[in-house]
Amino acid sequence: AKAEGRGTWRAFKPEMDQQMQARRRLEIELHTALAERQFEVFYQPLMQVTTGDLAGFEALLRWNHPERGSVSPAEFIPLAEETRLIKPLGAWVLERACRDAAKWPAHLKIAINLSPVQFVKGNLVEEVEHALSTSGLAPDRLELEITESVMLQNSDETLQVLNQLRAIGVQISMDDFGTGYSSLSYLRKFPFDKIKIDQTFVRSLGDGKGSLEIVRAVVGLGRALSMKVLAEGVETADQLAALRAEGCDEVQGYLFSKPAPLAEAWRTIAIATKR
Ligand code: C2E
Ligand code: CA
Ligand code: CA
Ligand code: CA
Repeated sequence: AKAEGRGTWRAFKPEMDQQMQARRRLEIELHTALAERQFEVFYQPLMQVTTGDLAGFEALLRWNHPERGSVSPAEFIPLAEETRLIKPLGAWVLERACRDAAKWPAHLKIAINLSPVQFVKGNLVEEVEHALSTSGLAPDRLELEITESVMLQNSDETLQVLNQLRAIGVQISMDDFGTGYSSLSYLRKFPFDKIKIDQTFVRSLGDGKGSLEIVRAVVGLGRALSMKVLAEGVETADQLAALRAEGCDEVQGYLFSKPAPLAEAWRTIAIATKR
């Protein structure tokens, strides 16, 4: 209103102005959400293929918005990254998930997603060390998941951080494998512990258009490079059978469970340890 007389403002379409206001509102809400503990970590089981055993869980962030209910990370992570709020938020997820996982049976792992922003001019290594020491979680139970976008940015500094994390004894997984442009070249730059085949390949396994062959090749690649291979987004028994036949090490997906609150993770653990 104050700037109405200025020509520069008139160049904006009203709907664009509205979009910017909505964005600004979301940004303020995100800050409040962190202060008022509206975030929650959900857990989704990771399953061993050959034994059918529970291998651990992936931590997936949820925002319990006071009016909108549960908001998907796809909606707020990008803005949290732009505004750098992902740094305190990411540190909170690390602390929370390590503390939860430290109480689980010691053979279960916890996988946590890292944003590329957490690698830039930060203290990620110290944050990970802090989360481990305050929770008492053994470093080899922690798997940090990064996507190709992490490797894309300033790769020297990123590699240094990854090597420091590796030196602490945590595992590093390459997430969403096969969706980017140069996933293969990154396997040469850094010895990942695990490759997570993206769910798009799993979804199209039966369509005869090459997904099965790609999964087969990635499993072979994992074997050759001593990396475990996990397939994401497994929803049907047919998909599981195909992935088992191809020799995938681990699977994750709605066939076993959707991401769920901590209490549900505990129920899964209780059932798994009774078997
Ligand atoms: P992602 O790391 O690739 O996580 C897997 C996503 O696939 C999750 O979506 C999960 O709920 C979903 N999923 C799992 N199994 C199935 C299935 O069988 N079918 C289908 N259709 N989907 C399945 P979600 O929880 O909405 O998270 C979306 C993305 O948000 C994640 O993708 C990750 O990139 C990001 N994210 C989530 N939590 C965090 C976090 O704590 N930090 C950061 N930096 N990113 C996070
Ligand atoms: Ca992930
Ligand atoms: Ca993924
Ligand atoms: Ca993803």
